Amino acid sequence: MYAWVLDNPLNRDVNKQICGQKCYIHTSVMKRILYILMLVMTVQVLLAQERCMTMRESEVEMANDTVYARGVMKLQQLAEAFAAGDSAVDRNDWPFPTLTVPIVVHVLYRTEQQNISMEQIHSQIEVLNRDFAGLNADLNKVPEPFRRLAGVSNIQFQLADRDPDGRFTNGVTRTKTAVENIGSQSIYHRPERGGVAPWPQPHYLNVWVCELEGDALGFAILPGAQISERDGIVMSPTAFGTIGTTNPPYDQGRTFVHEVGHYFGLRHLWGSDDASCNSTDYVSDTPVQLKENFGCKNFPSFSCSNEEFGDMFMNYMDYGNDTCMLFFTQQQVALMHLVLMKNRKTLFHSAGVTGTPTVSNERQLHVYPNPSSSEVFIEFGSTALGWVEVVDMKGILVHRSYHEGQRAKLTLDELAPGLYFVRTTFGVSRLSML
Ligand SMILES: [Zn+2]
Repeated sequence: MYAWVLDNPLNRDVNKQICGQKCYIHTSVMKRILYILMLVMTVQVLLAQERCMTMRESEVEMANDTVYARGVMKLQQLAEAFAAGDSAVDRNDWPFPTLTVPIVVHVLYRTEQQNISMEQIHSQIEVLNRDFAGLNADLNKVPEPFRRLAGVSNIQFQLADRDPDGRFTNGVTRTKTAVENIGSQSIYHRPERGGVAPWPQPHYLNVWVCELEGDALGFAILPGAQISERDGIVMSPTAFGTIGTTNPPYDQGRTFVHEVGHYFGLRHLWGSDDASCNSTDYVSDTPVQLKENFGCKNFPSFSCSNEEFGDMFMNYMDYGNDTCMLFFTQQQVALMHLVLMKNRKTLFHSAGVTGTPTVSNERQLHVYPNPSSSEVFIEFGSTALGWVEVVDMKGILVHRSYHEGQRAKLTLDELAPGLYFVRTTFGVSRLSML
């Protein structure tokens, strides 16, 4: 409509009459500038709308897989009943038990820069655990009427320390690919097309960190009764973690928090229709809102006139800048817990996380000299050993090698002084490096 007003011949005539040819030329130049500005703004909005592709990618998957589609619809009905306070929704499993979800990060890189560091991956896991537990310091930035609704989840996350075959792992795979924007092509999970196969999705939260088209930051495949072959989360290296390849304003790890919300069944605050106050996110304590909010808005910001405090633009399930995405509500947390119990309960039975290495069976390993500054020998029982791994106090794998026979010799010159754990399939032992 704005363009029509500018281009209206009547306006040109009026301009000419009022201030003559000079003014008309000036208006014409202004018009071109305005056109360019409008074009730039339109492109920016279109790009900004690509921030999260969860709905689009899940719909693609639903079109390809009718069983998965039925599962998503069934879950939608459950969420609808839950939001309406339907007493038929089974809550027998509550209070919700604490769960540590094993995460495997598949770093699928085309350029060396995209081969992100372990430190960057750990920075993301740290943010995820902090935010799900409601321990983020910036929670106090949430306006009071909304802050009292903030929820705390019992879901925690850890990089897997056992792979599907029961071997020790640091929870990260690294694969080089020649495919551009592989995350946007629905083939990131297919090795024969340049992707990486997921670890068993019932037992691991698979995350592919790989190149995405345009300014897209990530997406999750919504849960259904049957797990999709693409199940998991895809993240751009520009928005995963808080250091390294991340770019502001999406460099505080909040995109991944948002996507994990989707992974556990949450929808965007504005529902599935971004131009209606009648669309729902199936959560009873989030206000209805018209569409997504970008950047950092000032409170209150209204879009649907029936809401007392306006949009909850600082919720993780909106589109704000990372520094302005601050909390889940109690009902969002409750819905995630419900979906987990209904659709992702197998995560409870995963062997992907065995917890902090114990030393209860250390007598099975004889590590000497201990402490050491370089060479270490490991003696074990009567059988051949297999893999030996050394992890630091944070659980980060710093050495891995295969040995046969009854004794292994490790050269650990590169390790910084400190306390480490030596792990084999038989047991764990402490090792001090000087
Ligand atoms: Zn989203």
